[in-house]
Amino acid sequence: MSQDIANPMALTGKCIVVTGAGQGIGRAIALGVIGLGGNVVAVDRNGETLEELVREQGVERLKTAVGDVTDENFIERTVEETHAMYGRIDGLVNNAGIARPAMIHKMDRATWDTVLEVNLTAPFLLLQAVGRKMLGQAAGGAPGGSIVNISSDAGRRGTVGQINYGAAKAGINGLTMSAAREWANRGVRVNSVAFGVIETPMTEAVRGEKLRDQYLAQIPMKRWGTPSEVANTVCFLLSDAASYITGQVISVNGGFHITA
Ligand code: NAD
Repeated sequence: MSQDIANPMALTGKCIVVTGAGQGIGRAIALGVIGLGGNVVAVDRNGETLEELVREQGVERLKTAVGDVTDENFIERTVEETHAMYGRIDGLVNNAGIARPAMIHKMDRATWDTVLEVNLTAPFLLLQAVGRKMLGQAAGGAPGGSIVNISSDAGRRGTVGQINYGAAKAGINGLTMSAAREWANRGVRVNSVAFGVIETPMTEAVRGEKLRDQYLAQIPMKRWGTPSEVANTVCFLLSDAASYITGQVISVNGGFHITA
């Protein structure tokens, strides 16, 4: 394992695939990886936000792939093209996610299926496709890789009005622990990061006038998280600074889960 002694969090020369990188937390993760010297393949179904990211950053170390992570052909193509371009894949961040709220007694099948498909099945397909490449690298004597799956407090404590989301995020934690156990001695680390309430478009309603006080009352740090501060934990797990960490679900939430 090569390690930058001066900065063990350096991602210099590494190739990291980040899904949902067009906005919010995924965008902050992509910027974090670039800032630490890594190469990013930014994946999102929204081509406009990806174009804007490229225009703004203007660095050679940022490539994009526009498509839907639930599309198996798109996943296969993206993974193969990334591998062909860099000769390896060092990291995957399964970040793309959606919320489709409804109370349990009103939730229809399509609303359940859509959230499970994007938030749980797509991360599995990506983990499988990228994981195969990483296992191959490690079997050949090169470093394997690090996979970070984005979870949520909803997957630990449940939610009101989002049973589909809570179930998918709890599933992400199971996916993480199972993959970590299968691959722990084969060069691939797999961890989850569970966020609380972070300032992104996804949480506009929660942070709005009607609900904000009720949520802030449950957060010991009494504030929302910002995308860039939570992206740091993801970058840490991608880096060699986390070389002995696998199968963990790490909360980044201002202490949200410790309040009764
Ligand atoms: P966001 O809605 O701001 O951004 C999500 C991005 O994912 C968008 O760019 C969107 O285009 C992309 N995306 C969605 N579905 C896609 C698909 N099928 N294919 C490709 N791209 C797709 O969300 P965010 O707040 O940045 O959340 C990022 C992740 O963090 C999600 O997994 C979310 O569940 C999780 N999370 C967020 C919070 C929070 O407070 N914001 C809390 C807990 C967990």
